Amino acid sequence: MTTQLTDEHTSIRTYVQDLRRRVEGIEILEPGTGTTRYSHDAATAKTAADSGNLGPAVVLPATAAQVQEAVKVAAELGVTVVPRGAGTGLSGGATAQPSEVVISTEKLTAIIEVSPLDEVAVVEPGVINADLNKHLEPFGLFYAPDPASFDISSIGGNIATNAGGLRCAKYGVTRESILSLDVVLADGSLITVGHRSIKGVTGLDLTSLFVGSEGILGIVIKATVRLRPIPVARKTVSAFFNSTAEGTDGLAAITLSPVRPAAIEFFDTPSLANIDAHSGTNLRDRGAALILIEIDGYGIGDQAADLATALSAAGGRVTVESDDDGLRLWELRRSGRGLPQDKWYIGEDIAVPKSQLPKVYAAFPALEARFGVDISAVSHAGDGNLHPLITKDKTPDDGTNPPASLLEAATELVKVALSLGGTVTGEHGVGTIKREWAALELSERSREVQHAIKAAIDPQQTLNPGKAI
Ligand SMILES: Cc1cc2nc3c(=O)[nH]c(=O)nc-3n(C[C@H](O)[C@H](O)[C@H](O)COP(=O)(O)OP(=O)(O)OC[C@H]3O[C@@H](n4cnc5c(N)ncnc54)[C@H](O)[C@@H]3O)c2cc1C
Repeated sequence: MTTQLTDEHTSIRTYVQDLRRRVEGIEILEPGTGTTRYSHDAATAKTAADSGNLGPAVVLPATAAQVQEAVKVAAELGVTVVPRGAGTGLSGGATAQPSEVVISTEKLTAIIEVSPLDEVAVVEPGVINADLNKHLEPFGLFYAPDPASFDISSIGGNIATNAGGLRCAKYGVTRESILSLDVVLADGSLITVGHRSIKGVTGLDLTSLFVGSEGILGIVIKATVRLRPIPVARKTVSAFFNSTAEGTDGLAAITLSPVRPAAIEFFDTPSLANIDAHSGTNLRDRGAALILIEIDGYGIGDQAADLATALSAAGGRVTVESDDDGLRLWELRRSGRGLPQDKWYIGEDIAVPKSQLPKVYAAFPALEARFGVDISAVSHAGDGNLHPLITKDKTPDDGTNPPASLLEAATELVKVALSLGGTVTGEHGVGTIKREWAALELSERSREVQHAIKAAIDPQQTLNPGKAI
């Protein structure tokens, strides 16, 4: 445990002095001045709070040139840099040690341009996702990627994690909405990748390389993002089923129908019970599993009718919700579940080809029996991405660390997803937390290639070392 600055932080002191000398007026928070909150993201907050350390040095650049200089000085002094957006990440990607420098994008919040004719916006990375959409409303346009954290996470963080969200079922993940990026590389140089035009295939697709690279290849300082017209109508359709298995089987009826909903979310029995207990609702009175759907666009009545026919034939009790009830159900999806503070728990982010979702849910009972855990999952069913919550009761013998069986159960569930053609992380990223699971998925040669790319762009390992790959 580190509670005060020691000699090992000399390089940080030198860094702060050098940067202040070279960039007049740049805002820097020194370790020990309340920077502990920059040492963790949403997933690692508890561990960081327990460590008692002083927190990292934090640079808050206000311009692209300041970001470049902050990285350049770090590279010269051999200090490592952790890029940071809003710190809502769920994989430990923005976690920083006291010996590192955080470069936060929170002052880079300009919406530089909105072009209705090109259907693009040009934004700085610190813009909060919801703020961009508020800004776009008068133009009749919207930016589609909508992680459940849309009102607290930054566009730069969304890009660096290739964030998904509820509307991915129709509009795709963040990658599908990014046309071009300005990126500061590990030596402080600045490159533009991609194109403002919808088409553009000159050179290697470096935009896709940077999207989802979790801050290990460069710092995004500007993005040209794709916009879409706000749909003329939106409707929420619910379908309740008598069991989790009937509900997961019912999902196929949506895929086989001609309707392509914007969002398709699935709730199993324990997840509905959890929401009822946490939010005082009575969803379990309506059924034991729920498929919650948003449809949008023209012909909304026809879409709703076709879905109702398909889901009723699959055994669902279908309701086209009123606007108020629909909003309430989506709110419950985003924040209705409570985290079991009195239990050990691990949250996962596995994804499988969507035809395999029923098999993942069907695997829960055997894992529960084998490891003495409880498993529930809400999923972005439209793209096969589950968020299982694995819990275990605490016992007096446990001490401060969770029992090994909890992690073993989580690892087995990851293996189930992999055996069904899936992945260890659908949208949260690998960060520090899922590197061992990523090694189960990626071949040795594939990991070698990823390290070779990192070494080619950042030979000194200046940017976010030890994360993502
Ligand atoms: C309640 C809640 C709900 C969530 N729901 C979802 C969801 O539905 N879908 C989803 O995908 N995620 C979700 N998340 C996770 C998280 O919000 C996303 O990963 C989000 O994209 C992170 O954005 P951020 O600005 O907070 O980034 P941070 O947490 O600050 O950083 C995340 C990663 O990106 C890097 N980074 C940040 N900014 C930059 C930049 N400008 N250039 C280069 N690298 C950068 C960091 O180094 C780090 O590796 C949720 C989190 C919470 C707390």
